[in-house]
Amino acid sequence: MSENLYEILAAGFPADRTKPCFLFAEGGAVSYGELEDLVARTAARLVAEGVRPGDRVALQAEKSWAGVVIYLAALKAGAVHLPLNAAYTEAEVDYFLKDAEPAVFITDDVAYVDGAKGFEPLGDAVARSADDLASIIYTSGTTGRSKGAMLSHGNLAANAVALHDAWGFTPEDVLLHALPIFHVHGLFVALHCAFLSGCPMVWLPKFADAEVLKGLQQATVMMGVPTFYTRLLANPAFDRQAARNVRVFISGSAPLLPSTFAEFEDRTGRRILERYGMSEAVIITSNPLDGDRIAGSVGYPLPGVELRIGGGEETGVIEIRGPSVFGGYWRMPEKTAEEFTADGFFRTGDVGRRDPDGRVWISGRAKDLIISGGYNVYPKEVELVLDELPGVTESAVIGAPHPDFGEGVVAVVIGEGNEAALIAEARRQLAAYKAPKRVLFVDELPRNAMGKVQKNVLRQRYADLFAAG
Ligand code: AMP
Repeated sequence: MSENLYEILAAGFPADRTKPCFLFAEGGAVSYGELEDLVARTAARLVAEGVRPGDRVALQAEKSWAGVVIYLAALKAGAVHLPLNAAYTEAEVDYFLKDAEPAVFITDDVAYVDGAKGFEPLGDAVARSADDLASIIYTSGTTGRSKGAMLSHGNLAANAVALHDAWGFTPEDVLLHALPIFHVHGLFVALHCAFLSGCPMVWLPKFADAEVLKGLQQATVMMGVPTFYTRLLANPAFDRQAARNVRVFISGSAPLLPSTFAEFEDRTGRRILERYGMSEAVIITSNPLDGDRIAGSVGYPLPGVELRIGGGEETGVIEIRGPSVFGGYWRMPEKTAEEFTADGFFRTGDVGRRDPDGRVWISGRAKDLIISGGYNVYPKEVELVLDELPGVTESAVIGAPHPDFGEGVVAVVIGEGNEAALIAEARRQLAAYKAPKRVLFVDELPRNAMGKVQKNVLRQRYADLFAAG
């Protein structure tokens, strides 16, 4: 039997194909039947243009539902979907195209799908086995070359089914979709849950307060990055009434601040469900749908995911194994071998621990670890202390080269206050080597498209902070 992911997803489409799949803010909808037909025609166009099973189909375009058609058509044709961030520059795209050698590179998805309407629909999906490649996701690598995470049909299907079950999706749900679709969050996590339940999505090109508030009147599930939730909270119109229709708000792709979790609960009476994932494994852990959701914890490993802490200490690099963990990095066998243990666990590069209940707590990326005067400083520990201090909205702690200590702890803080007073307060609560040596106030922290604070940018910006003289 074919294990083509498209067939697995399409098996969840509603029996009544006139049901909407995409609902638009400006009114109007695209039904599951229309989607299915366009996917079949677009798959036929890909095949007619010479795309063979295993060939890459690259897509770089602003978010549109036509991009979803391309994704599904690539799967159906047995090809490998390669989404690229619309913000990538020509030079960056050039690198990806040379590295991935796609058979087709689509930049106008709307026109491509439109042009496919004259093709006879492709019948059955091209047979694929679980191990065959379905997608390559280039990681937002902050150092060195960006790596292409190879995800198979089996990887994505296993994760889709686990999430659909864990988060209790039903055909009665309506998912608010405001995420980009070049990244696993909006592309796999969100779309697959909707398809497996055959539910509609409120389809927004991006996060904009007014449209999201309107969409929430219809939606029962919202998925977002933490900045979506802080932006909602900054809008006084977002209140209990505005959230009343939604059964679960899900957050991930970057850490959710405990203060955001608490403020959200105060404002709406709902606890955000935080989960943890990455391009290399889609979703790894989740707080429970039923049961306690705890601020700061990313919950329990999903069924089928084995998770352990490497290095023999209580806190260390999180290692994972399971059906959704990717097969390796595209054309980087050495890098792949380095990142897997002898017994087949993937080293995530995230540092964390498990509490006695089995919950997972993440304390940051291993490469963000600061070594000051020979001591390890976990930025997260310092950030948690700073974030509680009066005047501090959010902090990002980094190491900057220091003539005496190797690295000196630096806090970059959104908020206002007095540097000396914050340092003094931090020193009361933390060992001296962990307390920041400098606190710098800023209006904004640099973030990528998924809301992750770009610590590499901060490290560069403050590289000379402690320069001798
Ligand atoms: P990406 O591959 O771009 O999705 O980035 C994955 C990384 O985002 C992970 O390795 C984590 O460092 C981070 N991440 C994702 N979800 C969370 C979360 N809930 N809490 C903390 N970090 C997260």
